[in-house]
Amino acid sequence: MPRPPSIRPLFSAATLAARVSELGESLAASHADKAPLILGTLTGAFMFTADLVRAISPHPPGLSVDFLRASSYGAGTVSSGEVVVGGGAGSLGTKVPITSRHIILVEDIVDSGRTLAALKRALESAGAASVTVVALLDKPSGRVAGGAEADLTGFTVENEFVVGYGLDWDEAWRGLPYVGVVES
Ligand code: 5GP
Ligand code: MG
Repeated sequence: MPRPPSIRPLFSAATLAARVSELGESLAASHADKAPLILGTLTGAFMFTADLVRAISPHPPGLSVDFLRASSYGAGTVSSGEVVVGGGAGSLGTKVPITSRHIILVEDIVDSGRTLAALKRALESAGAASVTVVALLDKPSGRVAGGAEADLTGFTVENEFVVGYGLDWDEAWRGLPYVGVVES
């Protein structure tokens, strides 16, 4: 399949699949008896979440899957640092209740770590029994004070803007089966 010319590939579909498989095995072992609730964050983590759920093998009894949304609050491209989770006003917007569940929170990428910090706070306030964060990508150069860390990470990236495998640039490139850097 020809790839768009302006994307420099970083992680191929095969490379992603191999790492997702490792992450799934690790989560299968850590959550075998925990009936985990997988929570994917929309929209960026939709593809990673779908692949990761299938890679959690053997399948833990009672595993369920839902999604939530987190948005940076602020104008233009400069984030104010405020993050709105779900419907705001304390509602996470999930269909599956959070209370007393062992959550596996699935993120696309941790940059400043603010989104993750807000998500973890929201899940803990909602009464989660535990929160384990798995992020496909980690961009440690972006981290700020108060930013949270993932427990499991697929790959580390430099200070570059990456797209594909769910991640967008202005809503484009999400459908690419690999992760790459936009070269404009
Ligand atoms: P944080 O709150 O950690 O600064 O931001 C995390 C969110 O910013 C990610 O979930 C993602 O939506 C967005 N983001 C950060 N870096 C990148 C990147 O390189 N590419 C894309 N597509 N989104 C990014
Ligand atoms: Mg995101």
